[in-house]
Amino acid sequence: MIPFLDLKKVNKKYQSEIEQAVLRVVRSGWYILGEEVKQFENSFAEHCQVKCCIGVGNGLEAIKLILCAYKELGVMSEGDEVIVPANTYIATILAITESGLTPVLVEPDIRTYNLDPKKIEEKITSKTKAILPVHLYGLCCPMDEINKIAQKYNLKVIDDAAQAHGAVYNGFPIGGLCDATAFSFYPTKNLGALGDAGAITTNDKQLAEVIRALANYGTEAKYINKYKGINSRLDEMQAAILAVRLKYLKDDTIYRQELASKYLNEIVNNHIVLPFVRVIEEHTFHMFVIRCQKRNELQKYLLEQGIQTQVHYPIPPHKQEAYKEWSNLSFPITERIHDEVLSLPLNTALNFSEITEIIDCVNKF
Ligand SMILES: *Cc1c(COP(=O)(O)O)cnc(C)c1O
Repeated sequence: MIPFLDLKKVNKKYQSEIEQAVLRVVRSGWYILGEEVKQFENSFAEHCQVKCCIGVGNGLEAIKLILCAYKELGVMSEGDEVIVPANTYIATILAITESGLTPVLVEPDIRTYNLDPKKIEEKITSKTKAILPVHLYGLCCPMDEINKIAQKYNLKVIDDAAQAHGAVYNGFPIGGLCDATAFSFYPTKNLGALGDAGAITTNDKQLAEVIRALANYGTEAKYINKYKGINSRLDEMQAAILAVRLKYLKDDTIYRQELASKYLNEIVNNHIVLPFVRVIEEHTFHMFVIRCQKRNELQKYLLEQGIQTQVHYPIPPHKQEAYKEWSNLSFPITERIHDEVLSLPLNTALNFSEITEIIDCVNKF
């Protein structure tokens, strides 16, 4: 059996370093907002080539905190609109509605599964305040085009990079490509903690200050509460673990890209559409997502051959019960993607011979 993802095996590579880091924190007597978080924030800011990084509780709150900070700064207010791809993971949409803003769903590009810049302008109204591209499956969105539209209409660009740590777009790392970037370090992500964790990167120091306060009860100085904030802090233990994982991110990303290149070169099957790649550096292959009209049959067949796959994601946000107010909306491209996508195993615990075995099976379907 080739499992979709064996996290124990993934983390084995870093286990002794992680255990040392955890022990160091246990023995330090300091568990929240200390040196470990500060050091990780500095290293991650350097990695992203940005001025500011704020560690937070998780990826959903990272997006939410950026939006709420813009509200505090007077850039956005209750009911304003945020343009977002209709096929994103539910967390992106939840962050917008939880902030009291209105998501405006836009169909993705069927080749890239990312926000289609050609469809953004027609959705802009006087209430639009931001575009929120999601680098889905690890592929960078066309940020030059998106930033250009944002500039024309004076909008903020906030990107959801929960699946794209380590991606490089036109020579620049993700995290500094627009106004603010949200990251998740959920354990299955390319840069994963051993629990919940997230971060925000930005070059806007004023925005960073507001976010930092909002994430800590709205506290500006100890016991001085400037905003109605929340509790969303990266803890010392997760920060220490992430500092270990960050050292290996570049090599891990290259390895994922090598495995993906093998799939891309060797999967030959008329029933299957392979992921779009412009230049390999732009794709971190958080998932290797193929498309097939007979997706359910293919998934069943692969499982019979001992290969576990997953569907990211089976139901689009506008078809979820949580957003039943959208149930009569129609997004044909999004719905087609959700009907046809299948994620093949791709992670740093796999070797080339396992990839060969998967390719052989896929080609025989
Ligand atoms: C994982 C993920 C999130 C949410 O991150 P959490 O840390 O689980 O809150 C948001 N957006 C995308 C695209 C994700 O993949």
